[in-house]
Amino acid sequence: MILLDGKKISAQIKSEIASSVAGMEKTGHKIPHLAAIIVGSDGASETYVAHKVKACEQVGFRSTLVRLTEKVQQELLLEKIDEINENADIDGVIVQLPLPAHISEEKVIERIKVEKDVDGFHPVNVGRLVINQPAYISATPNGIIELIKRYDIETSGKHCVILGRSNIVGKPMAVLMARKGYPGDATVTVCHSRTKDIHEVCRQADILIVAMGKAEFVTGDMVKDGAVVIDVGITRVKSVNTRSGWKLMGDVKFDEVALKCSYITPVPGGVGPMTIASLLNNTMKAAKKEIYG
Ligand code: NAP
Repeated sequence: MILLDGKKISAQIKSEIASSVAGMEKTGHKIPHLAAIIVGSDGASETYVAHKVKACEQVGFRSTLVRLTEKVQQELLLEKIDEINENADIDGVIVQLPLPAHISEEKVIERIKVEKDVDGFHPVNVGRLVINQPAYISATPNGIIELIKRYDIETSGKHCVILGRSNIVGKPMAVLMARKGYPGDATVTVCHSRTKDIHEVCRQADILIVAMGKAEFVTGDMVKDGAVVIDVGITRVKSVNTRSGWKLMGDVKFDEVALKCSYITPVPGGVGPMTIASLLNNTMKAAKKEIYG
């Protein structure tokens, strides 16, 4: 079994990006600048945003963090996005999800300028991905694709089973794995809460990508010998063994599954760091105006 070391690969990608930033500085090119908006003070969201801001610092990007209170009116959040959209120095903007119930995620995502939508959640970017036109691709699926590439994992003709059909992970992942060319050309099955006999479907997978948010759902008996297993899930559970009082768990029962598969991502240290690397890559593309000219 080979561990798909997202931490190591993301460090490589960050170092590549840092070199590009140094080159941009030398030639007088504007330094990439990412704006992140966080609403409220949810512990997990705080952690994710802090990681993103820190990653910007590590590669030499500028970053702006906008904090709004839990009770902020939707209109005010939309105005903030307009301001960022109009700010020529800012190349990319992300709004950390989930948002409080009184705010429409749909309206917020649609308000972000397509050219600055480095999370790749805007319907235009999603649509362009589906029809294979240049687009910002959602950071998590794109990070998984990069991991597959860097480990040179064969995908052509393989049966890829994806557990989860969310807009930000499951659906774009399915499109990417079914795309023509490498890494793609897979035969894709997408499972969700209405899928019948999910254990049996999983056992048919050459590549199993799990994005459900159900801690340790995938057990050893659900995995074919030699399968590639990618665990997107992150569930925070209480723990007496850590200083913070909680620990992160994936959707895959690692100890059981690792005995059977050919490749596997750990949690933490697998898909999470690749998501951040992918966001940095999208911000670099935005700064260089690679997608929309
Ligand atoms: P989501 O929007 O909640 O979607 C979960 C999906 O799993 C849904 O499609 C749901 O089916 C399906 N599902 C839930 N329980 C199921 C069951 N018992 N059997 C079959 N299908 C089931 O989640 P998400 O945003 O895609 O995130 C999934 C997980 O990945 C979460 O743990 C999240 O924290 C994590 N995540 C990690 C990263 C990272 O960077 N590592 C990034 C994004 C998300 P229905 O559609 O039928 O409800």
